[in-house]
Amino acid sequence: MAESDTAEAFAPSIASHIRRNEQGQPYLAGTKCGNCGHTFVGAREVCAKCYARSGLNPVKLAQTGKIYTWSIIYRSFPGIDTPFIDVIVDLADGAHIKGILKGVEADPEVDYFDMLVRVDFREVVPPGADEAYLVYYFVPLEDGEQNE
Ligand SMILES: [Zn+2]
Repeated sequence: MAESDTAEAFAPSIASHIRRNEQGQPYLAGTKCGNCGHTFVGAREVCAKCYARSGLNPVKLAQTGKIYTWSIIYRSFPGIDTPFIDVIVDLADGAHIKGILKGVEADPEVDYFDMLVRVDFREVVPPGADEAYLVYYFVPLEDGEQNE
């Protein structure tokens, strides 16, 4: 297998904080402040909590969390199926991240606050694109899974 074939084995990430390890396993990338301990999504050069300019270290973000807030979206871009549930999740490591909740029906009568969820990576072809990209969603935590 040529090197270029290996590189094409995985769909590229749609965003810089969605990465793969050497084995191709996807993860969310973040930054942890060595001064105050706060964790952020993506790369940071300054801590937005304590304003430290050094001691910021790249980390793999937690794979689970709890829904902080949510909204059902009924109208979106052409090609995007609606309704869907837009969420902000407090990850188990303290980072906050926006996403889309899959695996449950968007029901305005349901209270999704504090639902335990996990990151679910998928390779999808976005509307208007010709090839797949690596994206993430959130899905409900299954029985026996820990929020850690
Ligand atoms: Zn800090």
